[in-house]
Amino acid sequence: MLINLHTHLEGRIRPATAGELAVQLGLPDARRDWGRALELDVPADLTVYLQKVAASYPFFANAEALRRISREAVEDAAADGEDYLELRFGPATHVRDGFDLDAVIAAVCDGVADGVAETGMPAGVVVAALRHHDADTNERVARAAARRAGRGVVGFDLAGDELLFPALRPFVDSFAIAGAAGLGLTCHAAEAAPGSAAVAASRLLGVSRIGHGAHIVDDDAALAQVVDAGLAVEVCPSSNVFTGAIATLDAHPAARLRAAGIPVVLGDDNPRQTGSLLSAEDAIMRSRLGFDAADMVRLAADSVRVAFMEDATRKALHARL
Ligand SMILES: [Zn+2]
Repeated sequence: MLINLHTHLEGRIRPATAGELAVQLGLPDARRDWGRALELDVPADLTVYLQKVAASYPFFANAEALRRISREAVEDAAADGEDYLELRFGPATHVRDGFDLDAVIAAVCDGVADGVAETGMPAGVVVAALRHHDADTNERVARAAARRAGRGVVGFDLAGDELLFPALRPFVDSFAIAGAAGLGLTCHAAEAAPGSAAVAASRLLGVSRIGHGAHIVDDDAALAQVVDAGLAVEVCPSSNVFTGAIATLDAHPAARLRAAGIPVVLGDDNPRQTGSLLSAEDAIMRSRLGFDAADMVRLAADSVRVAFMEDATRKALHARL
């Protein structure tokens, strides 16, 4: 079973769609090879990685484009053999004159609903606050996400550059708003910052899941506290190589997290940049990171348990385990 709990809409635009939208929107150099333009060649750091993801922002120009990109993201995940998709994105980046936060989120929810109707694969939207935006902006994002709670939006996240913006306190109120609306809470943490950042995300923001958490195993105290807090870690092995969170795939901490008793779940983060969809990440877990068949069954069961999905979806997937 393939459950995708960590992937970004901004990292999933099809090159062909990028090309069509570039012409429609009059973007410079519209006829370039967008597949090449959006993919990463070599591992770098989180800042370089996120700049590459941000190269797709101009395509998120209006409701029609967002709806299409979102629908295609669901279609591509279903074609990859995935059984459930949690699709996250940062709406504040895509706000323009006459296209406000509510409209941006509605367009993505509409596109995801189109994709779900077409493919039969269940999916939910996770709205992300962004580290480089101010607290006011992120609180408005949280309130807009809260207004769509249960109508497409299932969760709330903090994404962005943990290297440049490691502080979590500015986001306390945003997470309180999202949590009060019943949204599931997750946070990119200990990706570029030390393992203690995952513990801080749990204490300050109340999250139940950590995105990446690559450095948790570097700090025994943090590792123990993550276990005690019952946090699940969303691992995205290929992404961690491209962001420099780990030196090589073989150095990935997934097996050490699992050995410590931490529920490990899987995502493909930004497959357009890394070239690796969830099915490939699943294969990496099995072939490179020491997860045997029983480990993968446990990963699937943990994924169904910690996903921000509706009860009916959880029951249906649980029955298939
Ligand atoms: Zn991510």
